[in-house]
Amino acid sequence: MPLKPPHCDTQVLHADDALRHDSALSPPITYAATFAAADAAEFAAMAGQPQHARYYTRYGNPLHERVARVVADLEGAESGLCFASGMGAISAAVLSHVRAGDHVVAQSSHYMGTSKLLTELLPRLGVQVSQVDLTDTAAVLAAVRSNTRLVHLETPVNPTLALCDIAAICAGAKARAPSVVVSVDNTFASPINQRPLSLGADIVLHSATKYLGGHHDLTAGVLLSSAERCRVIWGDAITLGATLSPMDAWLLLRGLRTLAVRVRQINANAMAVATFLQDHPGVERVFYPGLPSHPQHALACQQMTGFGGVIAVWLRSDYAGTAAFVARLKLFTQAVSLGGVDSLAVHAAAMWAGTLNDEQMRQANVQPNAVRLSIGLEAAPDLCADLAQALDGSAN
Ligand SMILES: *Cc1c(COP(=O)(O)O)cnc(C)c1O
Repeated sequence: MPLKPPHCDTQVLHADDALRHDSALSPPITYAATFAAADAAEFAAMAGQPQHARYYTRYGNPLHERVARVVADLEGAESGLCFASGMGAISAAVLSHVRAGDHVVAQSSHYMGTSKLLTELLPRLGVQVSQVDLTDTAAVLAAVRSNTRLVHLETPVNPTLALCDIAAICAGAKARAPSVVVSVDNTFASPINQRPLSLGADIVLHSATKYLGGHHDLTAGVLLSSAERCRVIWGDAITLGATLSPMDAWLLLRGLRTLAVRVRQINANAMAVATFLQDHPGVERVFYPGLPSHPQHALACQQMTGFGGVIAVWLRSDYAGTAAFVARLKLFTQAVSLGGVDSLAVHAAAMWAGTLNDEQMRQANVQPNAVRLSIGLEAAPDLCADLAQALDGSAN
C-alpha cells in the first residue's frame, strides 16, 4: 500500500532524506564554487543537466537541492529552485516567461520590488502590464487577453491584507487564454497556511527571507513548479545570477526544520493579538484575514488553513501619534520585514516616506495612522500588554 504523503511536520524534517549523502545529521556546508568531474563525458553531462548540484555553484549546490526538495514537498510541487533573494526568484520567474509584445496581468498592490519589476522594468523591455484590483476576480479575468503570458498574484498582500481568489483566477484565466501561466507569491501565507499549486497555480514563489528562514538572519528566495518549468526558468536564472550562498542555504534548511511549528504558533499569537486590537478603543480598524471582520474572511477560510502573522492596524490617531505609538513599543522592534521569531512593527507611512510621495501613498492606500505588525514567537499576552501600554500612552 502506498504511504500517505507525510504531514508537513514530518516533511520539513525528512523530505530531503534521499539527498543525505553522509552520516552527519546536520548537512555539511558545501563551500565549493566548483566540483570535480571524473572525465570529459561526465563534465559535459553535468553542465547540461538542470540544477546539477555538483558542477558549479551558480548552477546548483548540494544544499540548494535539499532546500528546494523540502519546500517543493511542502507546496506539493515536483521541483524547486533556490535564489539569493525573493526578488531573485520573482525576477527569474517573470523574465523567463515574457518577451517584447507580451502582456502581463498584475495586481494594483504588490510587494514594492515586484511592483517596480512589473511596472517599470517590464515596460522598458516592451512588455505591457495591466494592474487590477486583486479582490475583483471579474476585473482580473477581464484583463486577460490573447497575448497575456503571465498573471502574477500575491495573497495576502500589503497594505490591508487583501486576498485574491487563487482558484477562481487560475481557472478563469486559463479558460480565456489556455497558454497563460499563473504565478503566486506565497510569502505572507507560507506553505503551512496556503498551497497555491493545489488551487491551480503554475508557479509558487517565496521570499525565504521571511517565514521559511524565519530568524531574520538570511536573504533567500525559493521557486516551485513542475520539473519542466523549473528547467526552463533555471536556464535563465543561471544567466541572471542570483545564486544563493551555501551558508545561507544551510541556515535556510535549518530554519525550515521548525517551519510548521513556528507558523502554527505565529498563527495562534496573531489571532490573539488581532482580537485584542479589534476590541481596543484606541484602534480604528484591524485587518487580519482570520478575523470575521476582514472583508474577505470567507475566502480566507476557503483557501487558507491558517492566517499568518501579519496584521495591519489603523489607530485612532494622526501621523505624529502613530509614530509615537510605535516608538513606545518595547517588545516589538521597529523594523521592516516579517515572518521571523521576533515581533516587528512598522509605521507604514514612515516606511514608505523615502520611496513614495504623498499622492503615491494615497494611491497605495497607505494611511498616516497605519501600522503593520509581524507577530513572532513571544507569548501573546506579553505582546498584547506591550500594545496596550503603547496605545494607552497615546491618550496623553
Ligand atoms: C520580502 C518580500 C519579497 C522580496 O523578497 P527579498 O527576499 O527581500 O528579495 C517579495 N514578496 C514579498 C511578499 C515579500 O514580503
